Amino acid sequence: MTSIESAEPARRIDSVAIIGAGTMGAGIAAASAAAGCRVLVLDTDPEAVQRALDGVDDECRDLVDIGTVDDRLDDIAGYDWVCEAVIEDLATKRDLFERLEAARSDGSVISSNTSGIPLRQISEGMSERFRRDVAITHFFNPVRVMKLFELVPGEDTEPEVIDAFARFGAERLGKGVVHAKDTVNFIGNRIGCFFMLSGLHVAKPFLAGGMTQETIDAVLGVPIGLPPTGLYGLIDLIGLDVMELVGANLAENLPAGDRGLDFTAFPETEQAMADRGQLGRKTGGGFSRRTKLDDGSRKTETFDLVTGEWRAAGPPDLGGVPAGLGEVLFADSVQGELARHVFGGTLTYAADLVPEIADDIANVDNAIRWGFNWVHGPFEMLDHLGPDLVIEFLRGVDEPLPAMLATLEASGQPTFYSEAADGTRTQLMPDGTVAPVTPS
Ligand code: NAD
Repeated sequence: MTSIESAEPARRIDSVAIIGAGTMGAGIAAASAAAGCRVLVLDTDPEAVQRALDGVDDECRDLVDIGTVDDRLDDIAGYDWVCEAVIEDLATKRDLFERLEAARSDGSVISSNTSGIPLRQISEGMSERFRRDVAITHFFNPVRVMKLFELVPGEDTEPEVIDAFARFGAERLGKGVVHAKDTVNFIGNRIGCFFMLSGLHVAKPFLAGGMTQETIDAVLGVPIGLPPTGLYGLIDLIGLDVMELVGANLAENLPAGDRGLDFTAFPETEQAMADRGQLGRKTGGGFSRRTKLDDGSRKTETFDLVTGEWRAAGPPDLGGVPAGLGEVLFADSVQGELARHVFGGTLTYAADLVPEIADDIANVDNAIRWGFNWVHGPFEMLDHLGPDLVIEFLRGVDEPLPAMLATLEASGQPTFYSEAADGTRTQLMPDGTVAPVTPS
């Protein structure tokens, strides 16, 4: 019976072999086992696989087998999905994929959890079978918590392979599947990291003008629909070491003319922090630190980027921030100016990236909501603000309209999304037509 007659998907994932048992591999293992899958976790480090096993819920631990790559690599032949989650290094990943390709069975699917290495660099020169069966399956950290699951096909990836990953992600793991293109950092990190890296630079004159980091974080948080970590708090969470790697990857792989190229390196003070290991929460402090006092209470300090000294954290100044969501972007205040430069700059950046990084705006909005916990994705936020007001503002400051805003204006539609009486939603496509938004 063919797969069409049986209505069974052509590829089916019921088991997964995960190679690399660090933060992400362990998270993928725990989530897959909790979904009832048989799981094999391999690493070069036996302690890492043991830690991964310890992180699996008690009631599904017998679904999980562990071992080292050297001892157990051939056992991946018994698994439907071979998921690579080792360190973010192209040569390491390519070497490993050569070995995995020889050991996996026909009909299995194979993927990389890379945060941003383009798939074409991983699969260059690899066998035809590999190129047909491979994709990027990009989970966000922590895997059990974050909803976003980005899928990126290569040029030769069979649609049934993407279909198998999409079904597994949505139906077994309960993830929000986003379809991205094979461009550097895919969708979530392309836009989310632009916000952070450009923010570090764009904030400098505001710091020099006396605005505190506490105020910057507070403006670039809840008032614009972002988590309260804002800018510096988010980088503290992720780590300056990770952001430095992200910047290097962007410098190498962003297309010529991309606005992100101006922000791939840290400003001087932030680079000095990274160089001396002041990386963020993982090292006990980055832009901020909390220390326990003798009486058991805690004090929070800010690493002042202007003086280069630690000082007591202070309250933010939100005097120039109106209450409504996003209204600060139009406020005639220094806080408004900051929000326009950092967040407004990120919105216009995003509005220039379709169809480069995704076929449609809904995938971009889903990626940012599910991966960075924004209240609205960039296009939803533009709709909330009123695209006509944004266009008028950009014209007023002589800024060119980003591609999708120009497409919207030419279409004569008032907003990127519309909702019909029956609740179905449509979206403006990059060619100016209107298409349904398919629920994930
Ligand atoms: P990690 O450093 O926590 O773990 C990497 C693991 O890979 C280690 O246990 C190491 O022993 C193992 N390893 C290294 N070389 C190996 C090899 N040749 N064979 C087998 N095992 C090997 O890394 P991580 O944070 O889990 O990241 C894994 C991948 O996921 C990277 O590509 C990273 O960019 C990506 N990613 C990370 C995050 C995150 O926030 N940590 C988010 C999304 C994607």
